[in-house]
Amino acid sequence: MSQTPDFIYLSPPHMGGREQHYIQQAFEQNWITTAGANVNGFEQELAAYTGVSAVAALVSGTAALHLALLALGVAPGDEVFCSTFTFVASTNPIRYVGATPVLIDSEPTTWNLCPTALEDALRDRQKKGKLPKALMLVHLYGMPSRLQEIQEMTQRYGVPIIEDAAEALGSRYNGRLLGSFGKMGVFSFNGNKIITTSGGGALVSDDVELIEQARWLAMQAKDNLPHYHHTTMGYNYRMSNITAGIGRGQMEVLEERIQQKRKVFDTYRQLLEDVEELEWPLEPEGFHSNRWLTCVTIQKGCLLTPEALRLRLLAAHMESRPLWYPMHRQPLYRGCDYYGNHVSDDLFARGLCLPSGSNLTASDLERVADVVRKAFLG
Ligand SMILES: *Cc1c(COP(=O)(O)O)cnc(C)c1O
Repeated sequence: MSQTPDFIYLSPPHMGGREQHYIQQAFEQNWITTAGANVNGFEQELAAYTGVSAVAALVSGTAALHLALLALGVAPGDEVFCSTFTFVASTNPIRYVGATPVLIDSEPTTWNLCPTALEDALRDRQKKGKLPKALMLVHLYGMPSRLQEIQEMTQRYGVPIIEDAAEALGSRYNGRLLGSFGKMGVFSFNGNKIITTSGGGALVSDDVELIEQARWLAMQAKDNLPHYHHTTMGYNYRMSNITAGIGRGQMEVLEERIQQKRKVFDTYRQLLEDVEELEWPLEPEGFHSNRWLTCVTIQKGCLLTPEALRLRLLAAHMESRPLWYPMHRQPLYRGCDYYGNHVSDDLFARGLCLPSGSNLTASDLERVADVVRKAFLG
């Protein structure tokens, strides 16, 4: 994209101001590596914030998902249930470990995993004599999944949950932070996420040993001997002390960013109240979204398509984006088993992510809302 200075991005990085201070400290101490005060500090701060016992800071959310599957012993021949309405980074790690994804569709309120489809899938798999090794549960756009129903079911069948909370840092379900519900949870600090380290991720769990094992795998799985001795294949997935410095600065403004993201959603909703064709994903009682991206759907039967709206916004120098294209539609995953009622297909056909930067001003939001309103009302 070639952008004008006034171009409004979908979700740009938003620094707090103290990031450079932590980076400077790393330089002063000459800890320009994958260990040091920032990595330890960032892990401790994330653990304290999310209320889990242990955290491993890693190079990406994708790496964290990969290590979560390895830590749970998922291996070739295993199946893993996964939300079909997600980004490809949720499903690819299932293939990295040689397992097979089984895709489960969404329900229309939260857009996340449908408990009924999950129940059908579990029952069917049990009948066939093989339960999944894990459930990859995605909290899309920051909205919590229906955790109570889902956890009740997975506990009944003895299937551990990996929470893909890459988009949902700071979101809450009945007051408790997402990422802390599953056997393991994953966050991403990619450039467009609610806070960023430029690129990075974290694996969290109350099981300290699982995290220690993941951290060991993330550092080439070196056996406890003076020389380089290896019995297990490891990876080079550890976060650097420099990027962790950005993360520490960002942790200081996380709550502020959540408030700003939520304000973006509320402001659009207010400004566009008169556009009846727009539907807003509201939070059920007990659900608290970080509103990472403000997404809307266009009423069924409306002639304006999300793509037409996206092009209108682009012409006005504003970036919007289609919702995630479901995994069961991707050429890469089309052959996978699938359970559900195609709710995600309908959401994809009617949805759009609006510019959602936490740094958008009131006048930016009004400009965007004006373009949207004119697209509908002329
Ligand atoms: C961003 C994202 C990831 C991957 O995180 P990276 O840090 O970019 O590797 C995984 N799952 C979902 C749902 C995401 O949005």
